[in-house]
Order: sequence, then structure tokens, then C-alpha cells
Amino acid sequence: CFDELHGALGDCSCNVDTIDYFNNVKIFPRVQSLVSKDYFRFYKVNLKKECPFWVDDSRCAMKYCHIKTCTKESVPGYENGYGDSEMEAPAAKYSAEAQTICNSDDHNPDLGYLNMTISAASQHEIAKWKVYDDAVENFCECDDRDADADYVDLSLNPERYTGYKGPSAHRIWRSIYQENCFRPKINPYYDSFPYVLSSDLGNMCLEKRVFYRAVSGLHTSINIHLCSKYLLSEKAVGFAAPPDGEWGPNLEEFQRRFDPSQTHGESSNWLKNLYFVYLLEMRALAKAGPYLEHEEYFTGSPTEDEETRHAIRNMLGVIYTFPDHFNESSMFNGGSQAASLKNEFRDHFRNISRIMDCVGCDKCKLWGKLQTQGLGTALKILFSSKWNSPESDPPQGKLPLIHKSHERLQRTEIVALFNAFARLSNSIRELENFRILLR
Ligand code: FAD
Repeated sequence: CFDELHGALGDCSCNVDTIDYFNNVKIFPRVQSLVSKDYFRFYKVNLKKECPFWVDDSRCAMKYCHIKTCTKESVPGYENGYGDSEMEAPAAKYSAEAQTICNSDDHNPDLGYLNMTISAASQHEIAKWKVYDDAVENFCECDDRDADADYVDLSLNPERYTGYKGPSAHRIWRSIYQENCFRPKINPYYDSFPYVLSSDLGNMCLEKRVFYRAVSGLHTSINIHLCSKYLLSEKAVGFAAPPDGEWGPNLEEFQRRFDPSQTHGESSNWLKNLYFVYLLEMRALAKAGPYLEHEEYFTGSPTEDEETRHAIRNMLGVIYTFPDHFNESSMFNGGSQAASLKNEFRDHFRNISRIMDCVGCDKCKLWGKLQTQGLGTALKILFSSKWNSPESDPPQGKLPLIHKSHERLQRTEIVALFNAFARLSNSIRELENFRILLR
């Protein structure tokens, strides 16, 4: 699967090999150390939101397995006029799906277990953050303000194999690609994989292609993580405790997912999409860099905060030197049509972030929400007019950097942006490990 992973990325002037070197040598060590700092370690998120699109099939399926109450009549709203057409489909299909889920054991709640522990010392610090954050004017609605939102210590909940798969996971990916990715053409095998054929992308305009490639790159990253931190052997550590075990790379799993002969030749494009979304987020960091350099990174500890600011400046300084940044100025340039395309782009992305509330495994939902929020923040920096400051005319031949912004980012957006980028950076680094293992 690495044979074709060379050369031009497409839709930008950059190539894979340049990113490999730049990331693995310069960015990876810096960004991993940065996200281990307290400011970036705690992420506030609401994991209890209802799925707005369909009855949560995974949890419902578990109920069906255990207490056998989840028939189609028990699906809320079924009797209240979910019509015969499309709305009925999920409920009507439900029992059969639930049965398949039970049989295929699609969800391992132990591996998806979320550790919500926050030490007493950290709780004390976090109470101070709230006072500080509340004094900051907010411009966007994020679910960290919900009554149900909680802080999660990301270091206690690494992104790794959880066993989440089967109909519930496929439904999420399918709705992301089929309903929200500006599909050029429906795959003739409508419900089957791959949902989008890379050969059709040439018929799409740049903006729609960028959208698809960003989402696909995120999908690649999630799947690389589960292959590189796979449960190799399990040790039971006691009743009701999450399993402990040996976690490490699973080469067979990686090959199954990314060998072109097993993916209709699509997987090399999926891997390239990872590099593409990395480039997109890196450009957002560069563009917002001068703004990010002046953030406080408040945690209440002056030493820690200064170290964080120093690490940020250091990493951004390296990012500025990247020779081939993604050039967002070539997008959304077609008059009134461009404005409506941009609105559509934003609405589709919002929908994807809402689909994350339908993920049926808590740990996957945590990282899914964090990474979509990070990508959403990057897209906002790149495409929101509020982030295009007229004062920051670029020096000749350079892309614009933002010096002043009319819009501040919330703490949770900054945390998500850096952590999402750190995940992509880690995936590219893990690819190098798989290359070595394959040799
Ligand atoms: P899937 O990954 O489910 O993909 C479905 C189909 O999409 C494939 O058959 C293929 O045709 C196509 N496809 C695959 N990759 C791409 C791509 N990059 N671009 C375009 N099309 C593609 N599992 C874990 O173990 N740990 C996690 O942390 C985790 N987090 C998740 C977060 C979210 C938001 C979701 C939706 C799922 C998560 N999963 C996680 C599940 C995981 O992503 C897979 O869905 C699962 O392992 C089943 O894999 P699969 O081989 O059936 O293909």
C-alpha cells in the first residue's frame, strides 16, 4: 500500500515525501509534547447529547440483546406517525439490524470505556479556568457550555482499538459520505463500499473535493490509530474494570484496511487524503499563528503557562517555515455562487459534527467529536470572513497570516485544533512505523 504513496498530493503543490520528512522530524516531537501540557490535556465535551438523526442503534441494540425490549414498536415516535417512506426505514430495519449487531458482537463496551477521572488537584485548577474563560467573549456555540458537558483527561483515554464496528459504525460513515459529502455520483452499489469512488472526484469542483478529502483523511487517521494501538492480548483486571492489556501495531489489520487489492484500489487515495487534511490543518495553524501566539493558555500556574506559550511559539515558528502551504485563497471565488457554496459547505460540516452524537462507543465519540471540532475550527479559520483581516496583506508571494482577528477562539476550539492536528501528525508518524514493519 506504500508503493503509490509518493509524489504529488493533488489539489495543492505539495508532495507526500516533503510532508513525511517535515512531520516526522520537525512537527511530531513538538506537537506531542505540546498536547501533553495541562491546557491541552483536558477537553470539555458533552457526550450525553441525543443523536439528532436516528434512534441510537448501538445502545438500543445492546438493550435488545440483553432485555429484548427493543422491537420496532418501542422506537420512540414510531407510533406517532413516522410515515411509510424514508422516516420509517430506520425503525423498520431496526430489529433485523439489532439482531445482526448481537450476532456479530459489534460493540465492546469495555474497550470503549471512558475514564472520567479528574484528580482533586486538577479539579481545583479547572474551577479557576472557568472564571477566566467566562470573562472571554464567545462568538460560537460549542457544547462545552452545556450543562451536561464534562472535562475529560485525554491522557487517560488514548485513541486506540475499541472494537466498535459493524452496522452502527458503518451507518455513521455511510451517512457522512452519502448525505454530507457532496457526492458526485451515487456509487451504483448504493449501500456498499466504498461509499465514494475516487475516480469520480475529478468531476467535482475543488471545494467539494476538498470537503470529501478532509473527511476521508480523518477517517484514515482514525483507522490508522486503531491499527497502531490494537489490543494484542488481553489481561482481565477484575470485574467491572476496563481491560488492561498489551497494545501495539497490528500489521495484518493495517494491510486488510489499506492494501489496494482489498479496497478496490481506493486505499492509496485514502492515505493521501490523510496528508491532505494534515496540510489543511497546518495551514489553519499558520494563518491563525500570530493570534495563537498571543493567547494566554491560562491554567493558573504561571510557570506552566509560560512553558506552554513558549512551546506554541516554537512549534508555530517551525510551521511558518514549511515551503508548500495549502492555498485556500483559490477556493470560493465565484461570485454569488461561491457564497452559497460556502454556506452549503459549512452546513454539511455542521451536520457531520452533529452525526458524532450518534457514535455508539463513548471513546470513539470523544475522539470523533474532538477531531471534527478541530477540523471545523481549521475550516473556520481558513474560510470565515471574520478571519480574513484586511490589515494582513501578505508580503509578495506569501500567503496571508492573520495579525488581528475580530473573532476569538474559545478554549475548547484551541484545544481541539491542536489535539486534532497532533492526531494527524501521529498517524503520519505511525505510517512510517508500518513501512518499517512491512520491510
Ligand atoms: P470502516 O472504517 O467502517 O469503513 C467503512 C467503509 O468506508 C470501508 O469499507 C471503505 O469502503 C470506506 N472507507 C474506509 N476508509 C476510508 C477512507 N479513509 N476514506 C474513504 N472511504 C473509506 N474504532 C476503534 O477501534 N477505535 C476508535 O477510536 C474508533 N473511532 C471511531 C470514530 C468514529 C467517528 C467512527 C464512525 C468509527 C470509529 N471507529 C473506531 C470504528 C472504525 O472507524 C471502523 O468503522 C471499524 O473498525 C470497522 O471498520 P471497517 O473495516 O468495517 O471499515
